[in-house]
Parts: sequence; C-alpha cells; structure tokens
Amino acid sequence: MRILIVEDEHRIATSIKKGLELEKYAVDVAFDGRDGFDLASTEEYDCIILDLMLPGMDGLEICKKLREKQIHTPILILTARSQTENKIEGLDSGADDYLTKPFSFEELLARLRALIRRPNGTQGTVLKVGNLELDTVSYNVKRGEKAIQLSSKEYALLEYLMRQSGNIVSKDKIVTHVWNYDDDVLPNTVEVYIRKLRQKIDIPFKNEKSLINTIRGFGYKIES
Ligand code: CA
Repeated sequence: MRILIVEDEHRIATSIKKGLELEKYAVDVAFDGRDGFDLASTEEYDCIILDLMLPGMDGLEICKKLREKQIHTPILILTARSQTENKIEGLDSGADDYLTKPFSFEELLARLRALIRRPNGTQGTVLKVGNLELDTVSYNVKRGEKAIQLSSKEYALLEYLMRQSGNIVSKDKIVTHVWNYDDDVLPNTVEVYIRKLRQKIDIPFKNEKSLINTIRGFGYKIES
C-alpha cells in the first residue's frame, strides 16, 4: 500500500517515512502544501497523512480541494495540541481521522490500517483468498496450516492483490500501489515479483488450485 506524507517538519516526515517503510508501505513525502496537493491529485495513494500548518497551501485547503476534485483517498490529519479546534474543521473539510502530536507510531499504524479500505466483506485485519491468509497486523502469511515467509516487497504485492481479489489488476496499478515515486521499476519488475510469489504461495501446493492468475494483455487476478 502506498502512502503520501505531507509534513514540513523534516524530522517528523522522515521518521514516519522510515517507520512506515519498515512496515512494508511504499511512501512518498512532500515538504510543502503545494507539492503535497500536486502529488495527491496526480498520483494514486491508499492513504494521505496530512499536517495542517504547511507552507504553500495549508492542510485544510488541501483537504477541501481534493474532495472538490472527487479524490476520495482516505486522509489522516496531524494536528498540534494547541490546534484542537482545527481537527473539527479538518473533519468537516473531508478528512477521515486525525492524530494529535505527539503521537505514538503504533497509534499511527493502527489508524492507517483502519483507514485503508478493506475489500468488500472482509472483517478485521486478516485478508483471505481461499485458504490463503494474510494478517495485516502481524504480517503472518499462511496457506492452510503452512506458514509462508515473504520479503517486504513480496508481502506488499500480495497484500495489494488480496485487497483487489476477484478483480484484474494491471501492472501499472500494481507499480502505483506497491512502489514509491523514487523507486526504479523496470518493465519486468512486476513479472519478477509475481513469479517469486507463485513460487511461495502456489507452486508448493500441488494439490490445490493456483490462486494467482495471469490475464494475458491485462494483468493479474488473485482468486480461489
Ligand atoms: Ca507543520
């Protein structure tokens, strides 16, 4: 899942980015409001973490303008303790939730997980396709009773596919949601990672149906 952080305090922005990358998210950062608005309105994100006091364009304005443009990416607002009246204004401007600084990283993670949309019918934090399960809190993946070890990017790709289960996802969509703006993504990068995933979640399970399907000319689909 790909996150945009709009925050002018470099120390905070950088520490959130590092933390989220360790939690397998792809992360872009904008240090001023105008860059943040440009990225949020031209790239696809699964959630935006938005500071309110920003140079260029403030957080409330960014929120309002995105919603006016029919961009409905979930937005988590960061407010200073002295600006608590702004959180109400923020929610009224179309933000989905807020966090008051200083906050614990664990709380930020929990809010993000709640905001990133779940596929229809999924309850809680475990994604399921057939007998494949992915726990978005512990990052444990298993098929049947067998635990599966994945690298960060393999996990991020599988999570994205599972959130879109039953739908065809194009390579472009996958790149957008699994890699960040600065990553070097080669034309065959997605294929390489799909192959790695298959070797872990499909090929060892010879008596079971393959879950990852290639839809020639369109992309991939995971379903049971
Ligand atoms: Ca600020």
